[in-house]
Amino acid sequence: MSGSIVRTGAHLIGGDWSSQAPGGIAVSGNPARPDEPVGEFPLGDASTAVEAVTAAIEAQEAWAAAGFSSRARVLEKAAVLFDERAEELALLCTLEEGKTLPESRGEAMMSAETCRYQAGLAKTSTERIFPSNNPGETIRTVRAPLGVVGMITPWNFPLMIPVWKIAPALASGNSVVWKPASNTPLSAVAIASVFTDAGLPPGVLNLVLGPGSMGGELVADDRVDGVTFTGSVSVGQGIRDVVTARNGRVQLELGGHNPCIVFGDADLDVAVAGVVNGAMGATGQKCTATRRIIAVGGVHDELVDRLAAAVTSLQVGDGQNPETAIGPLVSAGARAEVTEAVHQAQAEGAETIAVTEGTPDGPCYFAPTLLAGGADLTITREEVFGPVSTVMRVDDVDEAFTLANDTEFGLSASVYTDDPWIVNRALHELRAGLIKVNGPTTGSEIHAPFGGEKHSSGHAAREQGDTAQEFFTRTRTAYIKPGRAR
Ligand code: NAD
Repeated sequence: MSGSIVRTGAHLIGGDWSSQAPGGIAVSGNPARPDEPVGEFPLGDASTAVEAVTAAIEAQEAWAAAGFSSRARVLEKAAVLFDERAEELALLCTLEEGKTLPESRGEAMMSAETCRYQAGLAKTSTERIFPSNNPGETIRTVRAPLGVVGMITPWNFPLMIPVWKIAPALASGNSVVWKPASNTPLSAVAIASVFTDAGLPPGVLNLVLGPGSMGGELVADDRVDGVTFTGSVSVGQGIRDVVTARNGRVQLELGGHNPCIVFGDADLDVAVAGVVNGAMGATGQKCTATRRIIAVGGVHDELVDRLAAAVTSLQVGDGQNPETAIGPLVSAGARAEVTEAVHQAQAEGAETIAVTEGTPDGPCYFAPTLLAGGADLTITREEVFGPVSTVMRVDDVDEAFTLANDTEFGLSASVYTDDPWIVNRALHELRAGLIKVNGPTTGSEIHAPFGGEKHSSGHAAREQGDTAQEFFTRTRTAYIKPGRAR
C-alpha cells in the first residue's frame, strides 16, 4: 500500500494495513458525482479501536526514546512527500469532500508546511530555567510526552486538520490512534501512507476507520492519555465529559458563529470580496465561516447591493472544474440540513437578498444564499454548516460589538475599517480567538496559535504555532541541587 494514493481504504494498526470489517464495508462517495463513488473502506468497531490503542502503547516508549532529531527527520520526510503528492492528495480531497481543487491544494501545501514547521520546532528548547531562593539550586522545567493520544477529526479539512494534530503529537514523542470522519476516509488513508512512507516506525501512528461509536470507544479507553477533537459542539462536549471523568486530557475545537463587521469607512471592494469569500468559500463548510454580516450605519444599503451582485454570480459546480468557485456540500444529508435551516429562517421572517444563479442539479448542491434579518432568527444564533449568511443592521460601533458578541461561540471575527481606534477596540472587545482586520473571518497560518473562546474551544492550549506542543507534553518542574557541597 505504499507509494501512491489508494482507492481502497484500510485501518493501519501496528504498522499493518488491515481490512477487518466487523461493521461491514462502506462506500466513500463523491458529492459532485454521486454515481462515481471514490472507493470503499472497512468499518471497524470497538475491538478495532482497542487493538489500535494496544499497538500505540507498544510503540510509544521507543518512539519517545528515539530522540527529537530522529522524530524531526520523519516529519521532514513527510513534508517532502506531502509536496510531492500534493496533486494526488488534492484530487482525493476534492473527490471525497467536494471543495474546489485550489482549496484542496491549499490543504496539501499547509500539511507539508506544518510538518516542516513542527520538525524545526522539535529542535528548539522546550525547557525553562527559574531562579531559586536556595543557593546552588536550579529550578528547571522539562517536557515529557503525554503518551498515547486519541485523535478524532471532522471531514471539512480532511488533510490539514489531521496533520496539524499529528505533526506536533509525533514531534513530542507520542503515539497516536486517529479516527477520521467517515465522509473522508480515503484522504485519511493517504495521509497515514505519507507518514509510513516517511519512515515512521510501526504502531506510532494508527488509523481506525469507522462510525462515531468507534470514536466513543477510543475516548473512553483509560489507556489513552489525551484526546484531541475537532468537530461539532454536541459531540465535543460529550467527549469532554467522558475524558475528564477518567482524568484524561482533552483538547476541543468546535463550532463557530462568526461575525464580520463592516464600518462606513471600509474599502467596500475589499470588504465585499472578503465577506463573500468568508461566507461562501469552501461552500460555507468552515468552522470560521462568516455567518453574520453586521453593517454599521449608512454603509448598509450599498454593501447589501454589492454583496447581492457578488453572491448571485458565483460559479457553483464540480470542484474539479477550474471555473468552479463553490463546490457541492459534503452530502445529501448536509444539503437537507442547510435547506431546512434556510426555510426556517424565511418562515421566521428573514428576507432573501440573493441566491446564486445556475447552481447545478444534484443531491449535494446548494445555491449560496444571502439573508437579512435580526437576532431573533434561529439562523443568526445556531451554526448552519453551509453557504448561507445573514446581513444585520446596526447604528454604531457599540451596537456592532454587542451584537457580534451575542453568541455562545467565539471562534473568529473580522472588522472592515481604516479607523485605528475601532481596530484597537475590536482587538480588546471582540470575544473571538481569531480576529481579522480587513480580511475574512476564515484562514489562518500554521505558525500562529489557532483556537476559539466560549463554546468554540475547550480550555487546553491552542493548536498550531509554537503552542501546539503544549497539549502533547507534560511539564515537570525539577529543583536541582548539587549532590555534595564543594
Ligand atoms: P462531528 O462532530 O459530527 O464529527 C466529528 C468527528 O467525531 C467525526 O470523526 C465523527 O465520526 C466523530 N464522532 C461522532 N460521534 C462521536 C462520538 N460519540 N464519540 C467520538 N467521536 C464521535 O463534526 P463534523 O460534521 O465532522 O464537522 C463539522 C463540525 O466541525 C462543525 O461544527 C464545525 O464548526 C466543526 N469544526 C471546528 C473546527 C475548529 O477548529 N474549531 C474546525 C473544523 C470543523
